[in-house]
Amino acid sequence: MAHNPGALYRLFYRSRQTPEVSADLDFQVQQIIGSSISRNRSVGLTGLLLTVQGHFIQALEGNVAAVRATYARIAMDPRHRDLHIIAQGPAGKRLFGDWNMCARSLAPSDKAILEVLDSKGGFNKEALTAATVERLLTTVATIQSRTALEALVS
Ligand code: FAD
Repeated sequence: MAHNPGALYRLFYRSRQTPEVSADLDFQVQQIIGSSISRNRSVGLTGLLLTVQGHFIQALEGNVAAVRATYARIAMDPRHRDLHIIAQGPAGKRLFGDWNMCARSLAPSDKAILEVLDSKGGFNKEALTAATVERLLTTVATIQSRTALEALVS
């Protein structure tokens, strides 16, 4: 289907971290974010990168060319494998417009978020559908912005 090149487009994918990345996750994520922020800014991309139990879940939003070119680079990256696009398509407004690219690890104790995925409280990558992945990442984004606000006023 043809897309208006300037229109907003959003893509969600999941992938599996390599064991080397999982073993040194904080450093690896800092490296990824460090190399992504200026690239994403320069092409008007926003999004959220989440790490959960050996997996990455990422939202990318911007114009269709920027989203697809960035995803194509990410898909070639040896730091993860088994990439699976969960949902993609035109979007009405940015869901992650307030920040560029941030990350948060989910621990089993992050119950409120995990319940978005699975009422039993565990992470089930197969349960990530277009609706649940959007809810998951926007929930994380809301929690992050609240935490950032609290840090500002405390
Ligand atoms: P170069 O920097 O020229 O690197 C060449 C190759 O080496 C590429 O295949 C690259 O993927 C790989 N590489 C680079 N650094 C490392 C490293 N430390 N260890 C192993 N291999 C490495 N990029 C964005 O621009 N925006 C994003 O939102 C974004 N999100 C990402 C999310 C995840 C989960 C991962 C794993 C990567 C993400 N990246 C993102 C990084 C992206 O995959 C590219 O590495 C980056 O965009 C640079 O691309 P390049 O072609 O200029 O590669």
